[in-house]
Amino acid sequence: FAELYTKDKTLQLRSIYVPNCTELFYRHDPLKIVRCQGTYMYDQLGQRYLDCINNVAHVGHCHPYVNKQIYRQMGACATNNRYLHDNTVILAEKLAKTLPEDLTQIFYTNSASEANDLAIRLARQYTGNYDILALDNAYHGHLSSLVELSTYEFKKFKTPVKIPDHVHILPTPDVYRGKYRDIDYNNDEAKLCELYVNEVRQIVEEAEARGRRFAIFFIETLQSCGGQIIYPKGYLKQTFDYLQSKGILCVADEVQTGFGRSGTHFWAYQSYEDDVRPDFVTLGKSMGNGFPVAGLVTRKAITDKFEAQGIEYFNTYGGNPVSCRAAIAVLDVIENEHLQENAHKVGLYFVNQLRELQKRYALIGDVRGRGLFLGIELVRDRAAREPAPIETKAIQLKLRDNFIIVSIDGPDHNVLKFKPPMCFAMVDVDYFCEKFQIILEEMQAIKSEIEGNNA
Ligand code: PMP
Repeated sequence: FAELYTKDKTLQLRSIYVPNCTELFYRHDPLKIVRCQGTYMYDQLGQRYLDCINNVAHVGHCHPYVNKQIYRQMGACATNNRYLHDNTVILAEKLAKTLPEDLTQIFYTNSASEANDLAIRLARQYTGNYDILALDNAYHGHLSSLVELSTYEFKKFKTPVKIPDHVHILPTPDVYRGKYRDIDYNNDEAKLCELYVNEVRQIVEEAEARGRRFAIFFIETLQSCGGQIIYPKGYLKQTFDYLQSKGILCVADEVQTGFGRSGTHFWAYQSYEDDVRPDFVTLGKSMGNGFPVAGLVTRKAITDKFEAQGIEYFNTYGGNPVSCRAAIAVLDVIENEHLQENAHKVGLYFVNQLRELQKRYALIGDVRGRGLFLGIELVRDRAAREPAPIETKAIQLKLRDNFIIVSIDGPDHNVLKFKPPMCFAMVDVDYFCEKFQIILEEMQAIKSEIEGNNA
């Protein structure tokens, strides 16, 4: 599939037919990507770009084994989930092996938004309660039920949105720039954890005193859109334990972080403590390497209660033999190509290289990462940790000029975000760091010049 239209024509037609509110990277000069492979994407002129952000192309863009499996299944049978098919159960069995033994029930969906919305329905049915807890700056999906609890999404709206009465927002346990910071507590992780867990207790108790009753708590196990946040050790376990002791169901949203991305563990929630026990795990994005497939895993007691209500779940495309075959192939490639181990090894190397740069460039306030989930937080002033959004944007654009694609996230738009395909290699890290250093050097020179002129 080479280019059918010129880039200008594609852009012109898109501006006529695709709503302008639909996201487009580099809107001032969008990229036209016509071919992808591994960690690389190619534009219409054949220019190669290093992809540091596509966590959907989990096992590498256009992986030939995954594609072949999809193609073969498409030619054999692609009907809906209301017939028996081996792919449905082979995938379920493989996923169940990676999860605690009570998480055996999987609903297949087409997107993670559908899966999270379903978690709300199930939790309300199971608990008889209505209210929802979520972290500040979270993103859990684009359906109405999820936008209203995803403050990351609606903080951007020009007219301020009132958070509905049934949604309760918890402070994000961000120890770098959150409510409680490591520098103020002598880097005492246990103390920081305690302070953030106390916030959960307080918000829940105050709401309950007003008669509110909770059904469900959502958490991204590493907060992505909120700025690549890693929570203090103990937070996930203590928060789940507290909420579950009150009968509130807990969702580990693994949409951006699952399938080995965290390096040490298959699911990122497992990378904090051994015995974190979610009631739901949401799967998506990387699950089909680009083929639409997502899912929600939960316990039998929860699905039994749904069934007892007379509810029959049906999703036209969800879990069809082709999407299940894509997901099975992805699991096979992760295992056969040791991609979780690669994420661990390359992720550690990446963080170490970035920390070396951090020693030399004051703009780099924080470097954090777990496997191939990394963030570089840029600040104007290290002591005050004042965010540097303009510099972050400038760096992103300069990286693009060097054919490297990264994204920016965090509530203050000052975190460079990395979640590349899991085959990202040491040479990719070296290439990125070399270009990043040159850009940092240029920026430093410009800053010194401005300061010199103002002196
Ligand atoms: N949860 C998280 C953490 C996500 O990042 C996303 C997508 N960015 C979703 C849920 C929703 O996924 P989808 O776009 O597949 O509906």
